[in-house]
Amino acid sequence: MGETLTAFAASDTLIEVVYLIASALFILSLKWMSSPTTARHGVWAGEIGMVLAIAGTLLHHGIVDYKWIAIALVLGSGIGIPLGMVQMTAVPQRTALSHAFGAFCVTLVGTAEFYLRSPQVPRFMMSVLSMEVILGGLTFTGSLMAAGKLQEILPQRPLTYRGQNIVNLSFLAVAIGIAVYLVIHPGARQLFPFMIGIPLIFGVLMIVPIGGADMPTVISLLNSYAGLSAAAMGFVLDNKLLIIAGALDGSSGFILSVIMSKAMNRSFANVLFGAFGQVQTAAAGGEEAKPVRSATAEEAASILTAANKVVVVPGYGMAVAQAQHKVRELYDALTKKGVDVRFAIHPVAGRMPGHMNVLLAEADIPYDRLMEMDEINGDFAQTDVALIIGANDVTNPAARTDTGSPIYGMPILDVDKARTVMVIKRGMSPGFAGIDNPLYYLDKTLMLFGDAKSFVSNIVREVGGGHG
Ligand code: NAP
Repeated sequence: MGETLTAFAASDTLIEVVYLIASALFILSLKWMSSPTTARHGVWAGEIGMVLAIAGTLLHHGIVDYKWIAIALVLGSGIGIPLGMVQMTAVPQRTALSHAFGAFCVTLVGTAEFYLRSPQVPRFMMSVLSMEVILGGLTFTGSLMAAGKLQEILPQRPLTYRGQNIVNLSFLAVAIGIAVYLVIHPGARQLFPFMIGIPLIFGVLMIVPIGGADMPTVISLLNSYAGLSAAAMGFVLDNKLLIIAGALDGSSGFILSVIMSKAMNRSFANVLFGAFGQVQTAAAGGEEAKPVRSATAEEAASILTAANKVVVVPGYGMAVAQAQHKVRELYDALTKKGVDVRFAIHPVAGRMPGHMNVLLAEADIPYDRLMEMDEINGDFAQTDVALIIGANDVTNPAARTDTGSPIYGMPILDVDKARTVMVIKRGMSPGFAGIDNPLYYLDKTLMLFGDAKSFVSNIVREVGGGHG
């Protein structure tokens, strides 16, 4: 008996040490991921931290049978491995699915804990347990809806009706009301299913009025909710690692949502309740008849080789076309000819934060050639050519001048200040915000119509570079 207790105490200490190392690795992971030069270390630290966290949990002496755990591990890996292999452009919806699974798990654990403990649930415990299942429930269905919208399984446009926000918030208020009642009367077990069911409905209703364009920001916010619910679960299970990891997840998701909202000049309230995306269809039409000047790859190549300073502005189209390696060849060919080539990165170019940085890093474009928006904007006036590759909204001057535009106030890359602007895109289709771009009708703008990868490849051939 005494020996068993000593063994338990030793394994408890070991678990605490393993958890401590895992927590440190999670913190380092976030720190390292904030810079492209250390990002790979960050990923490794996060992965090792997670393996340690799982290993530490498996050491718990409360575990009586490993059979079901093994089945769950195999099943989870079976789902997780293919999910990790999706295209880069599908990462936002993949992330949403991960949040959905995490939140579902948190809700199930909370439910089990309630029925195991009720009616003897102390007030603090019931409060965090309620927070756990409410946030978990709404994050589960909200994330599934967000993934569905991004994958275009569900309609992207916002569905709205009069009084919608009041109806939605009333659902949340009822769930919170039930939570308060349960904190005072934890024996009222019959109310518990409502405290889960209502947030599940709220999660759906919360996403319905939000347009597809805002989904990445919403996913980041749902990430934050998933983290907070996991931290609440940490209190319920008395697990410090969960509290730390949940708090890190909760705060980093929140900070990211703030950064994204700022980069789009939108408030949280506007993202969540503004039904952004409705005006866009109306604003998209009407401008098509205006003339634009187009050019061939040969003409583009001669302008680029004659330039001293070129700034490349990549966007979502470069990601879709997977043109980053061809862009690298263009960078090499122009640099060889003595042209100074830099890249201007808008914080919300593409479909997720850091999207462009990741693609350009994958193509081995030197980090010091990548400029943040604030660093480069002052240089456009001294730039010979701004070459836009599949970017649209992030270069739209209407954001500066047109007070009626849905993107009015969003900070943009001042490409229209360059001496010549060249835009590679397939046609005159709008970008994510669904609005026309006056940049295309300027005298200094040349439209290079075509798929980003093949057009850049043609320019590279004309410049006289490339790898065959
Ligand atoms: P964008 O405004 O969505 O425009 C992308 C352009 O790429 C389109 O106009 C499209 O025109 C072109 N394109 C598509 N496929 C192409 C291909 N194969 N070859 C060449 N061109 C192609 O992209 P963006 O300028 O990167 O702006 C990002 C937008 O997403 C912003 O509105 C931003 O607010 C929003 N957003 C981003 C994030 C984020 O975290 N990054 C989060 C939330 C929202 P054609 O069809 O004519 O080719």
